[in-house]
Amino acid sequence: MATRAIRGATTVKENKKESILNETSRLLRKMIEENNIMNGDIISIIFTVTKDLDAAFPAAAARALGIVHAALLDFPQHEVRDALKMCVRVMMYADMNVMQSEVKHIYLNGAKILRKDLVEEENKIAVALDGPAGSGKSTIAKLVAKKLGLTYIDTGAMYRSVALYCIDKDIDYNNEVDVISELENMNIGILSANKEQRYILNGEDVTELIRSPEVSEGASRVATYKAVREKLVAIQRELASKQSVIMDGRDIGTNVLPNAEIKIFMDGDVEERAKRRYEELSLKGISVTYDEILSDIKQRDHNDSSRAYNPLRKADDAILLDTTNMSIEEVGDFIIGKIDDVIKKD
Ligand code: C5P
Repeated sequence: MATRAIRGATTVKENKKESILNETSRLLRKMIEENNIMNGDIISIIFTVTKDLDAAFPAAAARALGIVHAALLDFPQHEVRDALKMCVRVMMYADMNVMQSEVKHIYLNGAKILRKDLVEEENKIAVALDGPAGSGKSTIAKLVAKKLGLTYIDTGAMYRSVALYCIDKDIDYNNEVDVISELENMNIGILSANKEQRYILNGEDVTELIRSPEVSEGASRVATYKAVREKLVAIQRELASKQSVIMDGRDIGTNVLPNAEIKIFMDGDVEERAKRRYEELSLKGISVTYDEILSDIKQRDHNDSSRAYNPLRKADDAILLDTTNMSIEEVGDFIIGKIDDVIKKD
């Protein structure tokens, strides 16, 4: 073991003894947990506080946590104009089994801005947007992604890619065994080009090809197969682990990203949803009648809600939004408002 230094910082909302001790305690616990340190291996801890925090000695929080043998010292923070206010900084020395470069430094609350480079992971946010076909998810997700700089991930496009593969290769997508036996030959990915997502199947850009009614029907069939879902959910989680995302689908809030910071479930009358989908496809020059779309959406609603694996369902902690009588702007503003609330609270 060798002695390592761990940095941490946090901010406190009020200059009150309880607030200072609670936040310092939370910070220390996180530093200890994230770095797997045993209490007895802590050698010393230095605390500094900005001068606006004079209601308590933060070192008292360490003693209250049972850190009794380490040497502790409180200092006033060197004052710099316009620097972060109400801030507790910590330098902990401990014997550890890792290299100094592997130490995890912890920045909480407003102190995250002190080391943006270190807390990028923590600042990531995920927005889960679920709902039935035609509820407006993709339009809204694109709009919100653009305004807030999030990456939009359309998980339906992945199920569509599986269906397209089957159609192209003459594989009956109603036959689960046949579809699953081909899964390993499907390489499904997303490419960002000109700030737009392109969906790639085995090296081919299929972004437009996957929008046909036939593919929609196939997607909703293959989405009932457990192995298909497992493969695609793994890709979706991997994408969300690397960046801030707004991800739309049917099971994002319940299954793919159960810890998403914001979950929205968009719904709407089936006739209104069919009308929107009809207009969208007509604009793209895809020839289809309103009645065909309506019956397709009803069938897909049924498939999606009644399947055994990860059915379409509102997560208990998702916000329900009925978009039947809302404009795109109204829905977008509502969701952006919710995301803003979460970011500010953080
Ligand atoms: O959203 P979109 O209509 O493009 O999705 C196509 C189909 O893929 C849906 O009807 C649904 O059956 C399936 N899907 C799913 N889970 C997701 C996304 C889509 O089952 N997360």
